[in-house]
Amino acid sequence: NASIVLFTSDLRLHDHPPLRAALNEADEVVPLFVRDDRVDAAGFPAPNRLAFLADSLTALDEALRERGGHLVVRSGDVVEQVGAVVAETGAGSVHMAAGASGFAQARERRLRAALAERGCALTVHDCVVTAVAPGAVTPAGGDHFAVFTPYFRRWSQQGVRDVVAAPRTVRVPSGLASERVPARADVREVSPGVPPGGEAVARAGLTAWLRSGVAGYADGHDDLAGDLTSRLSPHLHFGTLSPVELVHRVGKKDGPGPDAFVRQLCWRDFHHQVLAARPRAASADYRDRHDRWRDEHEAADDIEAWRRGRTGFPVVDAAMRQLAHEGWMHNRGRLIVASFLTKTLYVDWRVGARHFLRHLVDGDIAANQLNWQWTAGTGNDTRPNRVLNPVLQGKRHDPDGTYVRRWVPELAELDGAAVHEPWKLTGLDRARFDYPERVVDLAEGLARFRQGRGRE
Ligand code: FAD
Repeated sequence: NASIVLFTSDLRLHDHPPLRAALNEADEVVPLFVRDDRVDAAGFPAPNRLAFLADSLTALDEALRERGGHLVVRSGDVVEQVGAVVAETGAGSVHMAAGASGFAQARERRLRAALAERGCALTVHDCVVTAVAPGAVTPAGGDHFAVFTPYFRRWSQQGVRDVVAAPRTVRVPSGLASERVPARADVREVSPGVPPGGEAVARAGLTAWLRSGVAGYADGHDDLAGDLTSRLSPHLHFGTLSPVELVHRVGKKDGPGPDAFVRQLCWRDFHHQVLAARPRAASADYRDRHDRWRDEHEAADDIEAWRRGRTGFPVVDAAMRQLAHEGWMHNRGRLIVASFLTKTLYVDWRVGARHFLRHLVDGDIAANQLNWQWTAGTGNDTRPNRVLNPVLQGKRHDPDGTYVRRWVPELAELDGAAVHEPWKLTGLDRARFDYPERVVDLAEGLARFRQGRGRE
């Protein structure tokens, strides 16, 4: 007998409950990945993520081969493809991880119905993509937490399941056709700084982070130039690293660094549980603030300046250029540029979220859309009207200007914090720098935002 494991956002062998369950109930297992047409049709794939995905699938295939098996790759409609593999193998069960998005929920419903017709069981496993399952903790009378702090309290009390060991051997039914595993070299227009993917890279990154990164996280995580965060986000997005294992291993360490880091992992679960309960929040305002966003055509020049990192605000431009180059941006940078777009320029958060998803290697519907909503004040921020001042933010989180000089070479000759206010230079000094004027007056931007939103 055979069982199928459908891999989605969980491209690993360590701590993989669906794989463990399949191995426990069947002699042979089909590790299946389907390049789903519907994901393409939704416009979600972006070159940076496709490159990281290709690395991750290649690594998964290699890890399976070391254990006597291999990955089976198919493409098309996921429901049809899984059905075809059931027909070819006579598999009696399919195991997969639960997903939070509306897309994942619909996929699960369609699969369940189609497999039931074939007499094949579908088991959807929680706590594969998140540490704590969406809906596992809820407030009295509600289906999800809208505020982080009480969620964090309950999430911490809840604890996480035990870690599942990686299998030693995986036997795959013989004679199964598989497409070639995609390779990074097939993907065009990848940003130059996109890091390699794959479980082995993820595990090495985790080991290094535990050894020498996490201890300084509480103090260093907001330092733009220091780059003292884990950079594990793409691995969490593609599931080359298990959030459950991460909570266990970081949680074993004492100190403010590990505590602060586990709290960030809880933020990730927080957004997943919001999205699972309100899938529409991927595109619709979670809380409607009656915004009268600027017309996109009228704001087109400002939006373009923001995208290209040419707003005239050095820290904003530095962060946007980091995104273009690496497919990743420091969290503090994300907060600054998102506040700048949605509040200072008063442009709809969906415009920014779309741009991020085109570039981010870790681009994730739950984390991206709901962090954009959080920053725009249409989401779960309890202070929805706060506006980050990009000059003060730059001076605070990049006090000697190193981050700006790294990403905005036009200003590299300016010393120290002066780099955050190039407009203070006069005459010939200013003319020496080929750097744009500010696209907006901060006070006018603030007034426009307040007027558009209306004070509550
Ligand atoms: P670390 O600081 O090392 O944090 C560890 C992990 O915790 C991260 O890898 C991530 O998985 C999780 N995490 C940390 N902060 C958050 C948060 N606020 N929300 C959710 N998870 C968090 N994160 C994404 O993974 N994908 C996105 O598409 C994404 N879009 C964002 C858009 C905006 C506007 C903002 C403000 C934040 C966004 N984030 C997103 C959250 C956060 O910026 C990144 O997770 C973080 O910068 C990744 O770097 P790191 O792995 O070094 O993080």
